[in-house]
Amino acid sequence: MRCPFCAHQEDRVVDSRASREADSIRRRRECLNCERRFTTYERVEEAFPQIIKSDKSREDYDRAKLRRGLRIACIKRPISIEQIDAVVDAVECQMVALPGREVSSDWIGSAVTSELRDLDPVAYIRFASVYRAFSDIHAFLEELRGMDVGSSHAGGAGDQDARAADDNNLDNKSS
Ligand SMILES: [Zn+2]
Repeated sequence: MRCPFCAHQEDRVVDSRASREADSIRRRRECLNCERRFTTYERVEEAFPQIIKSDKSREDYDRAKLRRGLRIACIKRPISIEQIDAVVDAVECQMVALPGREVSSDWIGSAVTSELRDLDPVAYIRFASVYRAFSDIHAFLEELRGMDVGSSHAGGAGDQDARAADDNNLDNKSS
């Protein structure tokens, strides 16, 4: 974005705000040359970054698609359409505030899951298991462990110790 004061081409975004009514994104920018600040407005569809999919191909951000995924995750859960829209809005606000013009689909997946975590544990697990499908299963299991899922008490600590000991033995043999 060209600075209106000195015509320098580089700036940094100090604040981004999505305004759904106006269908635009308001960005407060600071020129990297003269350090003066100015405001730009971008149409929403131009403001969203390109999505980098796991196979490295690019696609336009698609609100309807994200909403559809969320609705599937929230089937038969006590979650209203308004709440789903609020999750999408929150993720979009984070997305337009990102510095780059591209964002990975993983980023969107984890942004949505962290919004869902506070909203509904079942929808959270459904969504997370689809989006993080086994690409990062350990991080996912760690998150599940941190949650109080169904208040099942973790027993069998002795078993875990025994298993850990076996693993150590295997390591010793192989090395
Ligand atoms: Zn300037």
